[in-house]
Amino acid sequence: MDKQFSIAVASGKGGTGKTFVSVNLFYALEQTGLRVHLVDCDAEAPNDKMFFKTDLVDNKKEIFQQVPVINLQACTFCGRCYEYCRYNALFFVPELQKISVLYDFCHGCGACLVACNDGAISERDDLLGEVNTFVLSQNTALFESRIKVGVHSSVPVLKAAVQQAAGADVLLMDAPPGTSCPFVQTVARADYTVLVTEPTPFGLSDLKQSVQTLSSIGIPCGVVVNKAGLGNREVYRYLEEEHIPLLMEIPFDKELAAMYSGGKIPAAEIPVWKDRFTDLYHQIKEQYGISSRQR
Ligand code: SF4
Ligand code: SF4
Repeated sequence: MDKQFSIAVASGKGGTGKTFVSVNLFYALEQTGLRVHLVDCDAEAPNDKMFFKTDLVDNKKEIFQQVPVINLQACTFCGRCYEYCRYNALFFVPELQKISVLYDFCHGCGACLVACNDGAISERDDLLGEVNTFVLSQNTALFESRIKVGVHSSVPVLKAAVQQAAGADVLLMDAPPGTSCPFVQTVARADYTVLVTEPTPFGLSDLKQSVQTLSSIGIPCGVVVNKAGLGNREVYRYLEEEHIPLLMEIPFDKELAAMYSGGKIPAAEIPVWKDRFTDLYHQIKEQYGISSRQR
């Protein structure tokens, strides 16, 4: 395979089974002999590592962001930095000669530094989190993004993890839950997104939001229905109406659930599940091919 193929596995909310799908797909792909890198992009609460019996970090990279520091002695309180900041990250009251950086809102864009003509702004490194690399075999590795407690945006850390994981045949990204910035920044880096949902009214509502977001950024998607057999048929009707491919169904099964909660990967334990997840990959490639031809 010459070019890396990137797949994001996502869902509108946590607990729908996207990590289950990610680690099983990862295992099944490893068995085909492909070079596969899994990125845990859920930097606020990464948990993919629980499924791999390793504590040995092969590489730990700290991720920093440059943030401004204002020298009040040099500041003329002209307000240019305040006007340039698109993120409302500066507190500025000229009549009281007060100015300070609101670090919780600062995106480290550097615009204030450019704006200041009085040399009153310098920068310092701010630790955001880390990317831990676990080499699992000759062909596979896990890249775990993890933000420091108190850091409000996981985006720079997850972007760094995806960047570090480049160079595989298949890059699998276990996306953060929801449809906000970290989700968008993950799926925007994918060739194809697998949305995992449950056949319930909540599942359908989250699915619709995720589909809308993906469609607005032009990333093709298909759906895996987890806990199939529970709930109702509304999700299936929606998929048919919107011509969204149903890639796979995972039945509600106590044995699978017990295995998963015990940190085991069903595809590694039960041959039929390895075959099903290998088939999921073929489905993804086929659907990606169809969507590419339609574009
Ligand atoms: S670095 Fe950007 S976001 Fe932060 S205070 Fe300066 S202009 Fe605002
Ligand atoms: S642009 Fe520079 S001098 Fe003007 S208010 Fe901001 S820090 Fe002060």
